[in-house]
Amino acid sequence: MNRVQQIEREIAELSNRIYQLKIELEKIRKTCAHEFLEDRYTQTCIKCNLAQSLYY
Ligand SMILES: [Zn+2]
Repeated sequence: MNRVQQIEREIAELSNRIYQLKIELEKIRKTCAHEFLEDRYTQTCIKCNLAQSLYY
């Protein structure tokens, strides 16, 4: 296999991995009992790192 094909295959595999990780993260955040720490503009959950703007 040449290098280009190898790179393209790796990119495809990593894209798939990122997709899986995002789904896993979303699942964790959906079931998290958030504990928010607020600063001036955002609140961030200390458990799952979910950040929300305080201004909508
Ligand atoms: Zn949380």
